[in-house]
Amino acid sequence: MTDASDELIGGLAAVFAHPDDESFGCAGALALAHDAGRVTRLLVATRGEAGVPEGAPSEGSFGDVRERELVTAAQVIGLDEVTILEGYADGGLADAPFAQIVDDVAHWLVSRRPDAVITFGRHGITGHPDHVVIGSAVRWAVERLAELGTAPNAVYVVSPVFGPGPNRYDLSPEEQGATHRVEITPVAERKVAALEAHRSQSDTAEQIAALRAAIEADQPIYEGYTRVRPAVPAPHPKFDARIW
Ligand SMILES: [Zn+2]
Repeated sequence: MTDASDELIGGLAAVFAHPDDESFGCAGALALAHDAGRVTRLLVATRGEAGVPEGAPSEGSFGDVRERELVTAAQVIGLDEVTILEGYADGGLADAPFAQIVDDVAHWLVSRRPDAVITFGRHGITGHPDHVVIGSAVRWAVERLAELGTAPNAVYVVSPVFGPGPNRYDLSPEEQGATHRVEITPVAERKVAALEAHRSQSDTAEQIAALRAAIEADQPIYEGYTRVRPAVPAPHPKFDARIW
């Protein structure tokens, strides 16, 4: 599932575990980067085939359903390329050979050379083991590329502390302590539409409702990020800065 734009390097990349992670994690930053003319890419480790909603008729083709939902979300956001890794089961990243995941992420990164990468932080926002593993694999991959001089310039982890809506997650310190705040108000409707594209998933309803309420109330809407490489000194957040 790749729309190769092989001649294009640089830009902003996101690396996550499942279809829909990109929409609740960083759809706003990706959409803004796209609108600013940057190349935007997404690497997803699994097809999300385990996220079968209650009452769904068949599990066999559910990965196809989620893949189609991801394509729709990617079009809404403005992603230039979406890649799904092969060979990894939804819910099984922690059981897969970690070195293989690192190899696959490093290979993808080195062939695209993004300027910046977004992934999950230490608790993966929700604590899902797949989220934790993919976030860790990205950081291992980047360190390996750094030794070869081909690392992205920056690695950010999603820090969902600015809302809208309650922050009900058990976040790690790096996820709780955002270093960057990006105003996504101009593209907030697209974030809602991207979340809605994953229509088989009901657990984003709360975030969709909170975003809609904020849009209707004309409130500024933000995404938060912590730059983990190179690290930003704790007392010096860069609020309202671009990350691409
Ligand atoms: Zn996920």
